[in-house]
Amino acid sequence: MVPKIDVIACLGDNYAYLLRDGESGTAVVIDAPEAAPILAAVDVSGGRLDAILLTHHHRDHIEGAAAIVERTGAKLIGAAADIHRLPPLDRAVHDGESLSVGPLDFRVIATPGHTRGHVVYHAPMARALFSGDTLFSLGCGRLFEGSAAEMWESLLRLAALPPETVICPGHEYTASNGRFALSVDPQNASLAERLAEVEVLRAAGQPTVPVTLQRELLTNPFLRAGDPRLAESLGMVGQPAVEVFAELRRRKDSFR
Ligand code: ZN
Ligand code: FE
Repeated sequence: MVPKIDVIACLGDNYAYLLRDGESGTAVVIDAPEAAPILAAVDVSGGRLDAILLTHHHRDHIEGAAAIVERTGAKLIGAAADIHRLPPLDRAVHDGESLSVGPLDFRVIATPGHTRGHVVYHAPMARALFSGDTLFSLGCGRLFEGSAAEMWESLLRLAALPPETVICPGHEYTASNGRFALSVDPQNASLAERLAEVEVLRAAGQPTVPVTLQRELLTNPFLRAGDPRLAESLGMVGQPAVEVFAELRRRKDSFR
């Protein structure tokens, strides 16, 4: 049985996710932006929470952790590399490590770029990737602590996951990311189709995620830096993908 994923809207535009195995009742939350909506989701799904997996140390991803742990007794799990700036962890994980919470299996993938210690969690049995602020729908995280080359490497690792993987990112940024994507990839029919859908979802107050990796590979310019069409649109024909990626990231930073 494929575990169920609940999208939990938190703060202004953050998402946390609740992953639950129906048979055993085992439940895991990814990121803890805000205690109240997460605890409400936990209550609705049976009141049990076994673990919280943190993607990175930014306040808008950890702020609810203490209150959730106090109420549920959930174990707190995060990157060993950031142990000094995460809330007190019950388990510190490294790149490539396998992590089991009851029947729920995860693989830890280190994705430096947005922050130095950022990790994402791949849950093969849920066919899901909890991508934090590394990979958004139609975008990627800002380079606060890493280089463009590091972030590009991180994204390439995610792009190599099975295409049917559903991406569960840390923020609802799809509509604004989409405006930038269209400006650098105006001929992309898959992108136009996705943007039309995003508009309908947002008008109805619905999340635009999860979204499949397959779809992101066709529409997200930051995953498509190796596509000659994007290089051409940026006037960078023949340049390496990492340079195209760096230019995309620079342009996005000042895009209004
Ligand atoms: Zn962040
Ligand atoms: Fe964030």
